[in-house]
Amino acid sequence: MANSNPASSFIVEQQQALRDRLPFSDTTDFDNAQRGLLGRLEPCQVDDADGNSVWDNASYAFLQGDAPDTVNPSLWRQSTLVATDGLFEVVEGIYQVRGLDLSNISFIEGERGVIIIDPLISTETAAAALALYREHRGDRPVTGVIYTHCHVDHFGGVKGVTTQEDVDAGRVVVLAPEGFVEHAVSENVYAGTAMGRRAGYMYGAALDRGPQGAVGAGLGQTTSTGAVTLIAPTLEITKTGQEEVVDGVRIVFQMAPNTEAPAEMLFYFPDHKALCAAEDATHTLHNLLTLRGAVVRDPHAWSNYLTETIDLFGGKAEAVFASHHWPTWGAERVVDFLTTQRDLYAYLHDQTLRMLNKG
Ligand SMILES: [Zn+2]
Repeated sequence: MANSNPASSFIVEQQQALRDRLPFSDTTDFDNAQRGLLGRLEPCQVDDADGNSVWDNASYAFLQGDAPDTVNPSLWRQSTLVATDGLFEVVEGIYQVRGLDLSNISFIEGERGVIIIDPLISTETAAAALALYREHRGDRPVTGVIYTHCHVDHFGGVKGVTTQEDVDAGRVVVLAPEGFVEHAVSENVYAGTAMGRRAGYMYGAALDRGPQGAVGAGLGQTTSTGAVTLIAPTLEITKTGQEEVVDGVRIVFQMAPNTEAPAEMLFYFPDHKALCAAEDATHTLHNLLTLRGAVVRDPHAWSNYLTETIDLFGGKAEAVFASHHWPTWGAERVVDFLTTQRDLYAYLHDQTLRMLNKG
């Protein structure tokens, strides 16, 4: 690609300093982002019924090799990982489609069918992800949906995987943390127009893709632009330690309100030894005050909840997966990962107060 707008020498120096300081030789994340691949949608593109593109992961094919001077090498590395798309096995009975939207959609196989965690932003991407899952794992009916929290990238595609009729008839149970509907409405209806517009800037969905344009948004590549829907939950989770059995699958919940979202929960699958960390432990540092205008996050509460997560499930969980990014495997590495994330938010809180008080 012609470099018509070369990065300044100052930026080139900063990029080199990052390359020297950060552990680019550690390729564990690359191994984990590829582990358990069962199949891909090729090309990884989804259109709506009118033929408009709502998702185009193939447009990030330029993310190969070392970072060019125009891109922060850490963002380049993260984007290369995040753009890795496909259907992956987390552990036997738990699968994820990644790289088909900003967020991940996960599939838990039950006795009669499959339970879906977080059906992406758009009905089109969610339906494409379910089709990819069924192509490799059989035509299982959807028996449950779990929303980890009240952000649109975790529920908007729900009508791409089930219908209001199936939920009303009791064929599909929909689980969410207490307060889910109130906060989903606050963000997506009351402040929805403004926040949607700001999110468009924040995630850069309209930018041209390339080393001098959109590279990735860190959390995911960008947001899909299809139809957003909502089906209200039929079973509210209200207490840490609450245990539910959905389609024969045992699930133990941990409430984590006022962390990454005002209504959020983590949960553990004891029969799979797998923990779903929602969006409270991912491979990134979240904004505490987001550009799009989400409710300000409380890093102190966030770190305390992750301490509780470690107390509840640390040492038991052999795998942790989340609604963004790739999983982490191995009981010790799971605790390491949760601890590092916990310390990250605690540090932001403690050092902000320390520096504030120092003036
Ligand atoms: Zn999210």
